[in-house]
Amino acid sequence: MCGIIGIYQKNKKAESASRLAILGLFAAQHRGQESCGIAYFDGEKLQLIKQMGLVKEVFNEEVLTQIPSHVAIGHVRYPTQGSSNIGNAQPHLLNNLSGPMFALASNGDIVNYKELREDLEAKDVFFESQNDGELILKYIAYFHEKQGLSIVDSIKKLMKHFQGSYSSVMLVKDELYAFRDPYGNRPFILGELNDETYVFASESCCIDIIRAQFKKEVSPCEIIHVNATGMESIQLNPDEFRSRKHSAHCVFELIYFSRPDSVVYDNAVYAFREKLGKKLAEKEDIISDVVIPVPDSSNFIALGYAKELGLDFNFGLIRNHYVGRTFIAPEQTIRDENVVQKFNPLPGYLEGKIVTLIDDSIVRGTTLQKIVKMVRSHGAKEVHVRIGSPMVKYPCFYGIDTPTYEELIANQKTVEDIAGYLKADSLRYLTIDELKSVVQDQNNFCFACFNGEYPIGLKK
Ligand code: AMP
Repeated sequence: MCGIIGIYQKNKKAESASRLAILGLFAAQHRGQESCGIAYFDGEKLQLIKQMGLVKEVFNEEVLTQIPSHVAIGHVRYPTQGSSNIGNAQPHLLNNLSGPMFALASNGDIVNYKELREDLEAKDVFFESQNDGELILKYIAYFHEKQGLSIVDSIKKLMKHFQGSYSSVMLVKDELYAFRDPYGNRPFILGELNDETYVFASESCCIDIIRAQFKKEVSPCEIIHVNATGMESIQLNPDEFRSRKHSAHCVFELIYFSRPDSVVYDNAVYAFREKLGKKLAEKEDIISDVVIPVPDSSNFIALGYAKELGLDFNFGLIRNHYVGRTFIAPEQTIRDENVVQKFNPLPGYLEGKIVTLIDDSIVRGTTLQKIVKMVRSHGAKEVHVRIGSPMVKYPCFYGIDTPTYEELIANQKTVEDIAGYLKADSLRYLTIDELKSVVQDQNNFCFACFNGEYPIGLKK
């Protein structure tokens, strides 16, 4: 999973596009913490700054003073395709001495990456990373430079041959292109600031931070081109580029990944999560003393659940925000340790209580197993676990980092067995039908991690 941003200022003298891009990346930090970077036009050529680390670490005041530009793109990375190193960090840059210059940042995974890369390698295109962003960039550059196609026609060709998920921003010298895959799998929006600046971003929280106004979602199969003469949208018919007549927006973005203050696929994320909690409450037969979220991702699910049942809602676990992510730690022992470092219980809300513990999802089961133990050891009488999504049984191939089939606890165990593993008094998930009833436009969503139906194909 990653976050992207693209900024174009109509007034070339404004020269704050790189700074605005960095500000946008701050708000996208939850989408990736491994590395970050920006590419910008310095008046002559494209420049690139990218490093491992958080936005606030990479873009210190010293860096910020060196980057005047009216057009820039940016990226934060959470690795799915390709290992965690600087070569796989984005944006990718192609600065030819004589010809055009390209830079690209993308969110999503390409499932037929291997085959497409081998095709390009056979045409003497050289790769420096294992990252799909580089593949997208070099594909477009190859067909533009070597086969004489326009940039727009090169992107159209890409849309025909690339299977997978991509919300992408690209610079060709000082012109900006934004395009989204035919299924609209990852979020992607367009905003505008004072009629002067166009902003493309993964989520609306990234445009809020720079005080830009939401304009629209970038549509599936839409190519938007911005240059000195203005903005042009080329809307292709997605049905000519996909194998079903619907989009496949990732539902997990609404459940877990996006920030609750964002609007994603026209849904206010926090309100969607409250509805998940409300739905979970509909079939409840345990009336507990207190409802406790596993913070922060399940806060609104727990709130919706407690409101619906008229139960006491409290923060019984305090999260340390300075511990790295538990989920992406490579070793199970480190993941176990991290969970304990990350959450500290408030015994006052737990002692002698029947507790309903709410989480948004169970993947490997690491987090909840430790938390149930923690809550019990601080005096809870009973611990009932409720999950605001269905069982995650299948890996994602479209940009969310999920483990293999074997590591997914719900792929290996029944609900009863998982409850036993967690040492919970009871466990209940939302069913797939319940989740679908909460999603307004269910035909246009991807539920692959829950039902194993992969609308954009399987990883090859
Ligand atoms: P696990 O401990 O492996 O069961 O992971 C579940 C926890 O990780 C939940 O609390 C989720 O909020 C969070 N989570 C779920 N999916 C992801 C993901 N793809 N990346 C990072 N964290 C996740």
